[in-house]
Amino acid sequence: MTESFDASYDVVVVGGGISGLAAALQAAKNGLTCALLEKESKTGGSSSFAEGHAAFESDEQKKRGIDVTKAEGYQRYLDYSHWRADPAIVSRFVDNAATSIVKLREELGVVYEDVMITAPDQPEELRTWHMPEGEVAHVIELQEAEARRRGVDIFMQTPAKKIIMVDGKAAGVLAADSDGQEVKLGAKAVVIGTGGYAASPAMLDKYTKHAIGEKIINVGGPGNAGDGINMLLEVGALTNPNIGTALLFPFMRDKAIVSETNCAGFQPYLWVNKYGKRFTNEIAGLNFGHAGDIVAGLPDALYWTILGQEQIRKLVEIGNEVGLGIYINNYAKLPGLVAEIEADAADEARENVYSAPTIAELAAKIGVDPAVLTAEVDEYNGWCRAGEDHKFHKLARYLLPVEEGPFYAVKMETGIMITMGAMKIDDHWRAVDANDNPIPGVYVVGCDAGGMWGESYSLPIPGSANGFSLTSGWLAADDIAEKIKSRAL
Ligand SMILES: Cc1cc2nc3c(=O)[nH]c(=O)nc-3n(C[C@H](O)[C@H](O)[C@H](O)COP(=O)(O)OP(=O)(O)OC[C@H]3O[C@@H](n4cnc5c(N)ncnc54)[C@H](O)[C@@H]3O)c2cc1C
Repeated sequence: MTESFDASYDVVVVGGGISGLAAALQAAKNGLTCALLEKESKTGGSSSFAEGHAAFESDEQKKRGIDVTKAEGYQRYLDYSHWRADPAIVSRFVDNAATSIVKLREELGVVYEDVMITAPDQPEELRTWHMPEGEVAHVIELQEAEARRRGVDIFMQTPAKKIIMVDGKAAGVLAADSDGQEVKLGAKAVVIGTGGYAASPAMLDKYTKHAIGEKIINVGGPGNAGDGINMLLEVGALTNPNIGTALLFPFMRDKAIVSETNCAGFQPYLWVNKYGKRFTNEIAGLNFGHAGDIVAGLPDALYWTILGQEQIRKLVEIGNEVGLGIYINNYAKLPGLVAEIEADAADEARENVYSAPTIAELAAKIGVDPAVLTAEVDEYNGWCRAGEDHKFHKLARYLLPVEEGPFYAVKMETGIMITMGAMKIDDHWRAVDANDNPIPGVYVVGCDAGGMWGESYSLPIPGSANGFSLTSGWLAADDIAEKIKSRAL
């Protein structure tokens, strides 16, 4: 069978996030011709929101006296996933992640400002979060510029539609160009890096364990609608058993990620469900991934944070208990909170912040039985006064009573940053078929690739998703170059 193409390349990369750009750049560096297709009008996807990426035994860690070994990283991924992660994939990432740091520094001039953890009171966290100057958005700019300089053809607003297969091998990609016209690009290898399916309510319902697709608030790339996964399924690629893994977090509808009311809403103070009942140790909020998994499973996938003036004063004058990455730093004061939360409560169109002089009146506003919420707050305040939470064993320092009005209720719903772990791959980043055989020339990277995760995201190894995406991209391109040179593709 023969196909005719509008243009031909050694490699066509689908998706212009950190994984796709890393693949394209490395392909060009390896002397291959390459085209990169991006569905949106700019590159970056969810990567452009990321702050940093994970690595192990990197020179940036060593020069800061940080000792996180590859063996420790490897073991932690497997343990955290209850050994559902694929040891071969984990090993490839952990072994090569430090090289990614050197490559970004040497090839692109990236400067690392720090290597961090994400949250307080998480003793199991590894210090792996490498923070580039200008965050990952700047890395994306540098990657794109360098890819262009090396001759990669980058096509924006050009969604790929289909992987073209000839005689069981990848032969190219069918796409729609920026005018909506079909374009066929030939390739010896196709790299799929479309960033998962966080923007597809239907796929969220199909694959995640929470059927709340329409309710979920996507803060990541708008283009991450599972296109790559669907194209891979069409060519017979196998899904990974953990295709339903997602990085969820409690988030306010119609708010920006830097909102101080939103930050108040995920503090580990007093949380109640839609019926006004406390349901967890709120310390879960120190790991927003845990908190996201919890909120997604609650009735209507929401909770209310009940705040009194004690909590407001603490947040404004002393600082938060936990921030949100570098968007809101840990322990930072929230100087704009009072103005923001009062405006939110006064906004009649907004249905996720209410204020009232008493708990009973607040309960009525949020549709909860006043007797239930009053009893719950009274019980909680009792634990706070005793300094011991006999219900959920929250650490004493987070037991701040809710006694002084006016009180606020902030509704937290389920936000999503990314899905991950979709497709089964081999340790050369190739999609595999139903018999576990690699599909020649079909590569999967970043959030479309499985193997790293179990049922939830490994936030205690911060930077894992972005680090994996970056590293998988260039490793896939190395494998392609080797196979093209040896005429295996
Ligand atoms: C707010 C936020 C903060 C984050 N912070 C961190 C962090 O600090 N550390 C960390 O490790 N992770 C973080 N993440 C996750 C991280 O950004 C991602 O895991 C990772 O960067 C994904 O890279 P990717 O290349 O797989 O996908 P993306 O960067 O999402 O790129 C995929 C690209 O493919 C494009 N695309 C989709 N379909 C098509 C198609 N049919 N044709 C062509 N193009 C297509 C998309 O438009 C997109 O540009 C964060 C995510 C968010 C949302």
